[in-house]
Amino acid sequence: MTIHPKPFEQWQQPPKNDELRLIPIGGLGEFGMNAMAIHTAKTLLLIDCGQLFPTEEQPGIDSIVPDFAYFEPFADKIDAILLTHGHEDHIGALPYFLERWPVSVYGTAFTLALVAGKLKEHELKIEMIEVNDFDKLTIGRGGMQAEWIPVSHSIPDSCAIALHTEQGIIFHSGDFKFDPTPVDGRRTNTDSIEKLGRAGVRALVSDSTNVHMPGFAPSESLSRDGLARIFNETEGRLFLATFSSHIHRVQIALDLAKGDRRKVCVVGRSMEKTIAYARRLGLLNCNDDIFIDSKDVEGHQPHKILILCTGSQAEPLSGLTRILKGEAKGIHPSPGDRLVLSARPIPGNEVPIIKMLDRAARLGLETSTDGFEPIHVTGHAHRDDAAMLMDLLKPEYVIPAHGTYRLLQSHAQLAHSKGWGADKAPLLDGGQCLQLFSDGTSRLAGEVPTGKCFVHQGIENRVDARVVHDRLIMQEDGIIVATIQLNKHGQLVGEPTILSRGFVILNDDEAYSGLLKETVRKAFAEAPMEVIADRELLSELLRQSLKRIIRKTTQTRPIIVPMILDAKKG
Ligand SMILES: [Zn+2]
Ligand SMILES: [Zn+2]
Repeated sequence: MTIHPKPFEQWQQPPKNDELRLIPIGGLGEFGMNAMAIHTAKTLLLIDCGQLFPTEEQPGIDSIVPDFAYFEPFADKIDAILLTHGHEDHIGALPYFLERWPVSVYGTAFTLALVAGKLKEHELKIEMIEVNDFDKLTIGRGGMQAEWIPVSHSIPDSCAIALHTEQGIIFHSGDFKFDPTPVDGRRTNTDSIEKLGRAGVRALVSDSTNVHMPGFAPSESLSRDGLARIFNETEGRLFLATFSSHIHRVQIALDLAKGDRRKVCVVGRSMEKTIAYARRLGLLNCNDDIFIDSKDVEGHQPHKILILCTGSQAEPLSGLTRILKGEAKGIHPSPGDRLVLSARPIPGNEVPIIKMLDRAARLGLETSTDGFEPIHVTGHAHRDDAAMLMDLLKPEYVIPAHGTYRLLQSHAQLAHSKGWGADKAPLLDGGQCLQLFSDGTSRLAGEVPTGKCFVHQGIENRVDARVVHDRLIMQEDGIIVATIQLNKHGQLVGEPTILSRGFVILNDDEAYSGLLKETVRKAFAEAPMEVIADRELLSELLRQSLKRIIRKTTQTRPIIVPMILDAKKG
């Protein structure tokens, strides 16, 4: 089934009694911002509420969150947010959503520990309901039940969620793989999944991240072998950067450090926090005496030290970035030490990571990344994992989620190859609503309003997409301000002035500045009276004239700001 770009005209009307709407608010057609609305006449909930990290293409932006416009007409009807796990692409937009609609949040212990930290930062008090594996709870007033099923993923306490609705069972996989030998023993629970399959599943919403990769996803235990070799071969200090939430990887690192008699110094606030949460919940197995403070690092032989830090994505404020800039007290990398990035670069972060590795090389650090050793394995289903989930559940609909459009497409093709017809594996690009009815029929209703919101310095500060676009243009082509002065008769007084910042040609080219002034003068001279009388029209006319001549002569498109001032006299 191809996508239907037509709008869903009646989206603001509540669903009819026999109707269930399944709406990807984010996360389909892009990586990050995972959020799936499930809406019936009696229940409205959101599964996951994630953010997207900005890249260099969004200068000055701290976070990108979904546009939750769909919820506005139903503000007093929202029942809850259900969380599959605690990764930022699933919980990162919570403060933003909850600040507007403070509904209850359901999740497992580790997930809620991460959420609690986040809500505290934003001073939000929200009811959090901790669930256990296999819990089946009634959500809201409508009687819909949600069941949490343990899955294996690169963060503790991950779950799939099965919704028991009047329109049948909706199974949301969350992020998962079938790891036969997970580090913490948490295997994706095939018994419960099979049982749901036997009961009959209406729709499966499933992880597409690695669906283009052949075979099954490798086991997390495999990264232990690659890392063990690096521990063995490194004579100096070891710097290991990974995601702070990757407690399984942290466990492997701590085990290897113990075997190698290395002391561990943790650098990075989020790494310290998540290790504390995980230890409190019994999810990380280690003794206190393995950890040392950064001020004691110099007192140990280099080959007796492991620095465990955040910063695998070259985040500017992370532990690793601070270490490499010499800003982490007591920690001085030197030749013979080794840096290990035990994480996959998130698409868009490649350039800053390369720059960071260069900085490390200048300090004399050897570097190991995923390209050279099996020091990182994915937490996401490969092709055979995705196929196996379909086989176990035998759903009527397979809905590819969590991925860019091409990945969703390849997931749908996998479903086709396994016998699902085109209409039974719909490609729901962001905002495309699938309606499931109680009588077994379904309909692609069209698109509801969705999009990205750019957040800068605090959840209440939304930045319009146009502002982000303007910043990019200013960064690339600069800005030109053209000013004219008019007297009360609407006549030009004096010379137009042209000022510029970041625009290449004008810097010290008087002839070019003259050309632009002449363009302004000529546009004004030829302007009809009614345009001169209307400042907005006149401003637009000047802008267009300058835009044309600048594009023709320089092939650039700076931001052009015409200013029309009242002359003081004349
Ligand atoms: Zn995810
Ligand atoms: Zn995840």
